Amino acid sequence: MAGIYVHIPYCKSKCVYCDFYSVVASVVPARRYVHSVIQEAMLRREELNESVTTLYLGGGTPSTLSHTELQTLINDLREVLNLNEIQEFTIEVNPDDVNSELVQALTELGVNRVSMGVQSLDDDDLRFMRRRHTAREALNAIALLKTGGITNVSVDFIYGVPGQTLESWNRTLDVLAKTDVEHVSAYNLSYEEGTPLWKMRECGQVKEISDELAVAMFDLLCTRLGEAGFEHYEISNFAKPGYYSRHNSSYWQGVPYLGLGAAAHSYDGRATRSYNPADVKRYVENVDGGVTVCEREYLSTRELHDEMVMLRLRTACGLDVAEVERRFGLEAGRAIERKAAPFVSGGLLKCTGRVYSFTRQGIAVSNMVMSELMAD
Ligand code: SF4
Repeated sequence: MAGIYVHIPYCKSKCVYCDFYSVVASVVPARRYVHSVIQEAMLRREELNESVTTLYLGGGTPSTLSHTELQTLINDLREVLNLNEIQEFTIEVNPDDVNSELVQALTELGVNRVSMGVQSLDDDDLRFMRRRHTAREALNAIALLKTGGITNVSVDFIYGVPGQTLESWNRTLDVLAKTDVEHVSAYNLSYEEGTPLWKMRECGQVKEISDELAVAMFDLLCTRLGEAGFEHYEISNFAKPGYYSRHNSSYWQGVPYLGLGAAAHSYDGRATRSYNPADVKRYVENVDGGVTVCEREYLSTRELHDEMVMLRLRTACGLDVAEVERRFGLEAGRAIERKAAPFVSGGLLKCTGRVYSFTRQGIAVSNMVMSELMAD
């Protein structure tokens, strides 16, 4: 089992908080970029030794590609790679790009899951974040996707936006709960160095919300989505039964994936990660010249252990001590049990058999707990 991720590094404008790698299409025309992605797939197809079950087009904004570019990308990828066993094919879209022609093109290409950046259903929040759509447009886009035959729609949200209150977040969740989306990803707004948001905080234009309010917003999110029938299956992810993201779940389970495109990452499922350059021009020139220039990182046993602790604890399935023992030895398993014990008695972790997972209270301090469970 393996996944393929394709990074489409184009956005029409930059959102205030965003530190994903993206540029405007004039840097390198999208048509040329698509050609390079196919070239890279040809150069690297031997790296995939297992059947590919998930395909994910992320960005950036993949929906900025024209229908012809999308068709070329998918049809040519199918020629180069064996995509016959794909079970989940996701594309990220922005609400302002969604129209019935796009939805039809996506279904014809075999897309069966759409992930849309909605971020808020409050126009003040959306303006602050410099999103290119209103709440109404986002709701219309959800309706268009559903009526057009996309039966698995995921939406991304951000909470903790300056100016947002518990009441306004509750109103957003109210409206969200009435939509018929199958999956929600929700993140606390983070201030990443180099973003406009970071600079705004540096010069005192905005202030981060308090930790107490962030915890209250997260708590409200969990409660409201639970009432609406969503299962909280990963720290930031909620799904209706049967709609967990297979592609993202494979990241948390250590399944290999091949990342194509500028800034894309890959993992061989054992101990090697590789990173393509976050530079469209350099990426295109290299790949068109017949070379791939990913940087490789070889994970030590200790890094693999710590990564397993972090990734497994992110999910509701949790960290199984038996798996730790199988991969890292009996002493590693004993160390986890010893270090986890105070968090279980403190109500931050729960333990079922020998599997540890976070309580809702524990998620609020998950980074601290995870770092305590890391290798000595
Ligand atoms: S649309 Fe997405 S990738 Fe593009 S700037 Fe906004 S958040 Fe970043």
